[in-house]
Amino acid sequence: MSKEILFLEPVFTHNIWGGTKLREEYGYPVEGDDIGECWGIAAHDNGDCTVKSGTFAGKTLSTLWNEHRELFGNQEGDRFPLLVKIIDAKDDLSIQVHPDDTYAAEHENGSFGKMECWYILDCEENSTLVIGHNAKTKEELTDMIENKRWGELIREIPVRKGDFIQIDPGTVHAIKGGITILETQQNSDITYRVYDYDRLSNGQPRQLHVKQSLDVITVPAKPVEDSVIYVGETKVNELQELIRCQYYKVFKIDVDGEAVIEDNEPFLIMSVVEGSGTIDGQEIRKGAHFILPAGYGNVKLKGNMKIIASTSA
Ligand code: ZN
Repeated sequence: MSKEILFLEPVFTHNIWGGTKLREEYGYPVEGDDIGECWGIAAHDNGDCTVKSGTFAGKTLSTLWNEHRELFGNQEGDRFPLLVKIIDAKDDLSIQVHPDDTYAAEHENGSFGKMECWYILDCEENSTLVIGHNAKTKEELTDMIENKRWGELIREIPVRKGDFIQIDPGTVHAIKGGITILETQQNSDITYRVYDYDRLSNGQPRQLHVKQSLDVITVPAKPVEDSVIYVGETKVNELQELIRCQYYKVFKIDVDGEAVIEDNEPFLIMSVVEGSGTIDGQEIRKGAHFILPAGYGNVKLKGNMKIIASTSA
């Protein structure tokens, strides 16, 4: 069994709402002023990360899942379960919603649905996000969408750096400009665009998915308090659980000096989101994404850094 840490080479997307922060602040070698997403841990047709070094150098994460399932504790499933990305929104993202597994399987060629959660890495003073909507019934929702009553429809909430938000399938949501997040999600890329602020991309409005949106949006929306997770007091040098749901467990680790993390999960995804240090002697810094494979054992982190970790549930 391999005891190597799997350091991954991320994949990037360019988006009309993207910017330059992923290059300038996170140090990723990617050109352009429209960099929207860094897929740090991904094994999807639209982005498949490759291993940087060691025994599996050059292999994609989906290949490892298919051919070396022992690295992931021999978990079942035809696809790697999770996708972890950093999203830098220079401008507002479209207002969108994701289907659940049942709807996606039926309408999207057997894709997974998408449950996701956000750790707010950075934002400006007085930032807001769109989470949920104000329609009380399906009829009201339909009317608000068909008659473009966007101001009445969408529910905006204030957010601060360090907030953590869970977004169930069926939840209307949008990241606003100036916000950078780390998203942990089901391995899916199915998004239904409800409203795009009437913007043009290459001279054309981007496609909206009104029918699918109306099919999948939950009415009424969950109360805000059920989406914004209280993170609690920061514990230093410990694995601090942020959420546990049917698809994933997500943790935060604030390393100040030295932390030993016990090997309690089938595998553990880690993304360094602030600072730098070492993991079992190997240097890591902000922007690094890697996986501790099954059976790796306890791991020693040193330095001054913040890490968001996850595993499948
Ligand atoms: Zn989303």
